[in-house]
Amino acid sequence: MSADAWPALYIQFVKDIQAYLEHEPNSYKALHRLGIHVRMGRDNYVITQSKPPVVYLQPWFYGYNNETVEHEYGHILLAWSNIESQMIQEYGSREAAQPFIESLCEQALPFLRITQPMVDEAVRRYGVTSRAVVFLMLKAKARPEVALRRLIYDHPNAERAGFITSGNYIREVARCNLGLPFSWLERVPEPSAWFPSDIPVSFTRIPHTHNLIGVVAG
Ligand SMILES: [Zn+2]
Repeated sequence: MSADAWPALYIQFVKDIQAYLEHEPNSYKALHRLGIHVRMGRDNYVITQSKPPVVYLQPWFYGYNNETVEHEYGHILLAWSNIESQMIQEYGSREAAQPFIESLCEQALPFLRITQPMVDEAVRRYGVTSRAVVFLMLKAKARPEVALRRLIYDHPNAERAGFITSGNYIREVARCNLGLPFSWLERVPEPSAWFPSDIPVSFTRIPHTHNLIGVVAG
């Protein structure tokens, strides 16, 4: 299996586990339901080889759902998916594979926080638009970046792209089989001026800020 296939396979596995847990949006509860032990520790890490697997969390991340819990849960799922062992084999050592392992676990985060029924409801109500991203933010108490990535990367074959501004600059981009006319960190005071009128692009202000979310659907 080629390395290109790993992200889509991993995300599909995350989705399958989520469906098995009836779309539990709270990763702390999901860990318990899967029989994974959660302990306090000096650092945040997982032991996947033990029976049961154990997630160690620093005291300030212990006892409730947060992005650190979601990240460590992502490590458990990556190990279970067998993709982690393939990565270690491909890159020659765990150390060499580690940056790619961390990147995949970060990619899982929006999928753990924002469940498939939430995305389906957002798209049913608002289509693949910036309003759907704001809906997901509020529904899942997710950061704008997390909600944007969840919508844009929902289907590996869809043509979607989106961005978030900070003042006059682009602070976040997400692209799935579709390009954007500007890139991350570029100065773009008027994003709407960059899109021809026939491009289906939507813009919504992030509540209580001056920053914009933009979404393009192919
Ligand atoms: Zn990690």
